[in-house]
Amino acid sequence: MPSEHTESEQWRECLESTSSLIVITNNRGEIEYGNPRFARALGCAEQEWQGANIWDFLRPFVRRGAVWEHMSESLAVEPRGLREDVLLQTVGHPKWFTVAIDPVFDSAGTWIRTVHVFTDCTKSKVRETVQQKMMEAMASDLPISEVMRIACHEFECLAPDVAISVLGVDEEGRLQTLAAPSLPGSVSQAIDGQQMGPLVGACGAAAYFGEAVLIEDLATDPRIVLFKELLPQLGMQAVWSSPIKARDGRVLGTFAFYFRDRRGPDGFHRFLVDVAIHLCAIALESDASRTRIHQLAYFDGLTGLPGRQSILTRLEKAIALARQAAKPLAVVVLNLGHVREINHLYGEGAGDELLCQTARRLERCMADEQIVGRLAGDEFAVILPDCDQEGALAASRSLLSALSLPLRLKRGNTVHSTAAVGISVFPEHGSDRTMLLQGADLAMYHAKRAGGSEIRMFSQELVREQRYRLSVEAALREAISGNQLELHYQPKVDLQNGAMWGVEALARWHHPLLGHVLPSSFVSIAEEYGLIDALSHWVLREACRQLAAWRAKGIAMPAVAVNMSPTNFQNSSLPGVINETLARYGLLPNDLLIEMTESIFMDETLETSAVMEALRSAGIRLSIDDFGAGYSNLERLLRLPISEIKLDKSFIQNLEVDGASKALVDAVIRMGKSLDLSVIAEGVERETQRQILLDRGCRYGQGYLFARPLPPDGVEEWVRNRIPVPAAAH
Ligand code: C2E
Ligand code: MG
Ligand code: MG
Repeated sequence: MPSEHTESEQWRECLESTSSLIVITNNRGEIEYGNPRFARALGCAEQEWQGANIWDFLRPFVRRGAVWEHMSESLAVEPRGLREDVLLQTVGHPKWFTVAIDPVFDSAGTWIRTVHVFTDCTKSKVRETVQQKMMEAMASDLPISEVMRIACHEFECLAPDVAISVLGVDEEGRLQTLAAPSLPGSVSQAIDGQQMGPLVGACGAAAYFGEAVLIEDLATDPRIVLFKELLPQLGMQAVWSSPIKARDGRVLGTFAFYFRDRRGPDGFHRFLVDVAIHLCAIALESDASRTRIHQLAYFDGLTGLPGRQSILTRLEKAIALARQAAKPLAVVVLNLGHVREINHLYGEGAGDELLCQTARRLERCMADEQIVGRLAGDEFAVILPDCDQEGALAASRSLLSALSLPLRLKRGNTVHSTAAVGISVFPEHGSDRTMLLQGADLAMYHAKRAGGSEIRMFSQELVREQRYRLSVEAALREAISGNQLELHYQPKVDLQNGAMWGVEALARWHHPLLGHVLPSSFVSIAEEYGLIDALSHWVLREACRQLAAWRAKGIAMPAVAVNMSPTNFQNSSLPGVINETLARYGLLPNDLLIEMTESIFMDETLETSAVMEALRSAGIRLSIDDFGAGYSNLERLLRLPISEIKLDKSFIQNLEVDGASKALVDAVIRMGKSLDLSVIAEGVERETQRQILLDRGCRYGQGYLFARPLPPDGVEEWVRNRIPVPAAAH
């Protein structure tokens, strides 16, 4: 057992050799003992602290003073053990310490001393506090420059002898200051936009090489040449810049320490930079993915224009401004035509190219404050602030003329695009974004129905028409399923002798409230609302049933023709439905003819081609209706498996007076002969027309001259009363 003196000597030795800082005070906080570590860390001699109050002597560094005060107060109220982390200014750098404060009592329970043990926890604490601050900033969606400013501030507190800058490096290798709170603004201005490179300062070089770069003497180093004139304002002598790298090794930015003296980093600086570049990499990577998500959510990936969501937000803001300024605002919705067709003709990428080039053209038309975006597929929206109806019509016309210029695709094809345009204007057509967009959309649909490049302004009339279409749609749905439609049949005749060559089935609909609804109207409604398959299948069944019934009665009916829409050909079940129907009524493929308009070309896709091919191989004949009235592409027409061409009635009507009509009729007849197609003239109303057609070699005709579309018994009567024109009569 050591003597009392030796024992206390040994205790003292223990206190002096520990790596913790130990301070013993009396119960008033006056320092009685401090171990050599304490003296060394604070860089002061024993006489400076002997008798001083620890709470006054140790001023915790930065913001944490409150903690220290709180501890001294709470100890004075009730002496008990306390634990706290404090940042203290020590020799060289501020350091974090975990302080354990324990009161010591005598045998009577009186508080006589306090033992303070300071343990260095700088490394873990720096990581923890800076990381927490930066993560909080990121979680609050602060911009990356603000996150980096916070990081700079935190690290500058830990290394008050340096000024910090954080730069970002974009995909093209350009530098951009994200934060440099202690450097003059002129430095950032000089750096921003510079291309990284070996001679572009320490940061440009660190980004370029992907390694830390130290410039110990800014005044003489050649790498600083670009920024030479900034040095006096900078007031710094040395810089040490480290690259911030992504997980895959890409350089995302740089983190630099600027020193006031000619020097390099010490161990503590290196430690801080290790922590900093790790945290900054996380912040920059997460900012990049946030930007990407934002880009995806708000911008259209194909054209780079604002997407639907973004348009909605911008429209809302624009309406608020218009309301405040009591000014009008126009919303224009454009639907680009032919995208599908162009894809089909020139390959998948062609439609995308058309959309992108259209986006660029629209963008070029935009003045300040005007916004263009892509709503969906082939639909664009334009917001025109301070623009009334007249202004919007004029703007739409110039948009259309910009779009109508021929457009050259990468592969060299030239395409002409059309667009249906709908307009609505604030405040007369709606008070919020939903009403305005819906209004413009409705107007656009009307424009689209009119075909080609058309412009429509929203109006209540359009709403009424829309309501009517909706009520027709509901009634039509019922009429199809409830067998309330009828078919009339118009004879097709041999122009030479008037002999029956077949009949065309034409749908008729009389509704108790809506009255007679024209097929041109309900067919387009059926197409728009997805009823066209149901309608066509009903017509097909009814026409086949009627043909079989006529034949059963002994009426010699060569064939029945049924009209179908291009949409019907998009349904691959069509050949199966037709074959089943024919079989059900005991008919042969040759008994049926399917009429389709030239617009089948517009919608021709791989599916429609496959359906037509399947029909041809099943022996079902196809006829091109209204030929010459619309879009014609003879080369493609010849590729289709068709057996009949029906000359549009507009040519027949003008036949007696119009040379061009005659020429077209001649050309079609010649083509029909050489391709072995039947040519039939529609809408033959006058004997002179029949004569001209016959003279030009047209064999068949259909029209009021021979018969109007008739109900089935009317057809029977017509057949009975028909006295064929003798072949010799002409
Ligand atoms: P389309 O197939 O070209 O039918 C000929 C149209 O011309 C019929 O009109 C017919 O009544 C009319 N027409 C016949 N001869 C003459 C004439 O000498 N002069 C004049 N001016 N017109 C004549 P409708 O019945 O009103 O049908 C109009 C269009 O509606 C049809 O044109 C066809 O495209 C469509 N359609 C009719 N029924 C159906 C159907 O069941 N399904 C489908 N998808 N479309 C149908
Ligand atoms: Mg027809
Ligand atoms: Mg026709």
